[in-house]
Amino acid sequence: MNTDELLVLKDEPIDLTSPMQVPWRVLVVDDDADVHEVTRFSLGSVRVLSRPLELLHAHSADEAKRILDEVPNIAVILLDVVMESEDAGLQLVKSVRQEQRLASTRIILRTGQPGHAPEAETITLYDINDYKTKSELTQTRLFTSLTTAIRSYDQLRRLERSRHGLELIVNASNKLNAMPGLRAFAEGLLTQISALIGVDSDGVVCAVSGSPEIDSEASEPRIIAAVGRFARFIQRRLSEIDDERIAVALTTALRDRKSSIGRFSATFYFPKSGEEGFAALIDATQPIPDIDRDLVEVFCSNIALCAKNVDLVAELRRDAFVDRQLGMPNRTALLLDLNQRIHTDPHGEGVLAIIDLDQFAATNDILGHHYGDLLLRTTALHLRKFFGPGNFVARLAGDAFAVVGNRDAINPESIQRCFSEPFEVMGIRQPISACTGLVALDRGFEPGAEYLKDGYLAMKRAKDAGLAQTMFYSNDLAADVRSRARLLHSLRSGYESGQFFLAYQPQIDLVDERLVGAEALLRWRTADGTMIPPSSFIPIAEKSGLIVEMGRWLLREALLARHRLSAATGSDLRMAVNVSPVQVRRPDFSSMVIEMLRETATPAAALEIEITESVAIAGLDAVIAQFAALRQLGVTVALDDFGTGYSSLSYLERLPIDRLKIDRSFVLALEFDQGKRIARTIVVLGKEMGLKIIAEGVESPALRDRVVEIGCHEAQGYLFARPMIEREFIDWFKQRQGKPG
Ligand code: C2E
Ligand code: MG
Ligand code: MG
Repeated sequence: MNTDELLVLKDEPIDLTSPMQVPWRVLVVDDDADVHEVTRFSLGSVRVLSRPLELLHAHSADEAKRILDEVPNIAVILLDVVMESEDAGLQLVKSVRQEQRLASTRIILRTGQPGHAPEAETITLYDINDYKTKSELTQTRLFTSLTTAIRSYDQLRRLERSRHGLELIVNASNKLNAMPGLRAFAEGLLTQISALIGVDSDGVVCAVSGSPEIDSEASEPRIIAAVGRFARFIQRRLSEIDDERIAVALTTALRDRKSSIGRFSATFYFPKSGEEGFAALIDATQPIPDIDRDLVEVFCSNIALCAKNVDLVAELRRDAFVDRQLGMPNRTALLLDLNQRIHTDPHGEGVLAIIDLDQFAATNDILGHHYGDLLLRTTALHLRKFFGPGNFVARLAGDAFAVVGNRDAINPESIQRCFSEPFEVMGIRQPISACTGLVALDRGFEPGAEYLKDGYLAMKRAKDAGLAQTMFYSNDLAADVRSRARLLHSLRSGYESGQFFLAYQPQIDLVDERLVGAEALLRWRTADGTMIPPSSFIPIAEKSGLIVEMGRWLLREALLARHRLSAATGSDLRMAVNVSPVQVRRPDFSSMVIEMLRETATPAAALEIEITESVAIAGLDAVIAQFAALRQLGVTVALDDFGTGYSSLSYLERLPIDRLKIDRSFVLALEFDQGKRIARTIVVLGKEMGLKIIAEGVESPALRDRVVEIGCHEAQGYLFARPMIEREFIDWFKQRQGKPG
């Protein structure tokens, strides 16, 4: 580091722009050319307070005014009282003070005759420094008079600057108090420091001494805020940053608790009541001018000491690395740890695990926020204890935690073990499960944030797969996520541009082969004519919530079509509509259905709602309550795909249903002898519970005979008809009527 660049402030202000060379400007105003000549001769080569003079010459009051307008920092005006008029000089003085508002510029009046001396009150009013007759002004006297004036000008300028500085300081602390985050704080500080020293700066970096609350290595100072060209240092330890000059300057400021101003760089120390404070370093774009040491000190302590800012310092540090609620490392601290790990071992054995509790929101809703908070606390303690001090545990947000450690400690098996025993919350032992996304930290120098993003991705996919799932991040997974994102986009626009329609599949009574109803099935034909199967788009519509809006629309479509199909077939058809758990979970689901029945003038008994066992995930009680109201009105409920889902018999007992739909896979199995047993058991079970049974996927006469044989009441399948649009459905019916038998 170049030590010349950073000089500790001494008692005397250091002017690094070679102040010795900056001349004092003196304006000579006289209508007599000889006076100019004489003045030039007597003052041309003198130095006042070690600085040379720069003489400016005006031959009239107007010319003087123009020069005063154009040239800044004129220290003294040597002014002739009598020029074009008796009082032209005094008029100029008036204008200098009142119009041009040059308060610090000193004025020495000169006149030929004593009689032209201004009144004493004029001298006071216009702040005139000195008054001399030209004959009195010998070279020595002129020099003495000028020196006094210049010294006084210099003091006035310093005062002026201090006042301006103090104003800036008051402003600065007001502004910084309102800064909402670290970045804003750093930006604010940059602006305020630049204003104070009067030079543009292109970056600021703030360091604070370490936070012993986190871990012992962290007691080293860190960069808490940085903007401009220093932004890349953010969150680094001082020992880690690759710019030694900056590291040394900040370390020195923190150690010596001192600000220092160099030629192009300044370090400020902001003391915090006795204990540690923080330091900021800026690089200026031009040489930093002479700046009052006292002013810098007032600035720094004002910013740090002003009550709110004292909190700010503490907050800056805490917010930066500690999760306040759980008192453990937060996301920023995790990123720091990740970056460090990657830095030292870019292709190592490290693994990042993102662990997100299952059904935490529901637990919170049902058992209350107090319980939820305790559960989080318990989880945090458990994770720390289970994974031990060799691994880094942080809380990311809400119910999501992260663990970083070596592959042998962090893997699907260890995570499963971590949640294998129930947790104890409020004296109650409760089984807790979580979904986990894992990502190997072996891809080289990638920012920690990238790994974190991938870990989240894997965790989200694990969530999609169900409870207590663990998923490793891979490129395939990322590609899959991207294609889902694309699909969601086209799903939304496709829905808005009317690419969705319904197909209807007949449902047949097996006793007399009569058409009794139809199932409405959603279809998507994209702009280029491709048919996208519901199995691809329904899960995405569910995840995005679009299914709620679509569900409402298609229920209305289906109920309106039911009127027309009933009229065309001459029978009062039942319309079965599939609903997703996402729709049922909405508290207004039953009222939405009732509204649609009313709007389409459909008798409640003509609507059947198909649900799957997965609706129970939302909580059985809520589902029961929703359907109780609808069934009261006469709406029937069918349990779709029975036998493939969660299949808990206790659910089956409690679910408010009227009909069981035996899944196609069991119907197909009827072709084989041993397959019959399951289907037959389902039928017996359903009948025992007083349910009607419908078989799905009846593709052949042989299968039809089998489902009749095991006792199904109704059937649906390609044997009778494929799902058809409304017109095809009517054609199909007419054709079927025509057929004998
Ligand atoms: P699902 O409700 O079990 O619908 C029956 C599926 O079996 C339909 O597939 C139908 O075309 C097909 N299918 C009917 N008979 C036969 C047969 O004899 N052989 C074979 N191999 N298949 C047959 P689709 O239309 O592809 O629908 C698939 C799933 O998508 C549905 O299963 C349902 O879970 C969901 N779905 C369709 N429409 C909607 C809707 O409007 N809302 C919701 N929430 N889900 C829907
Ligand atoms: Mg269905
Ligand atoms: Mg089904």
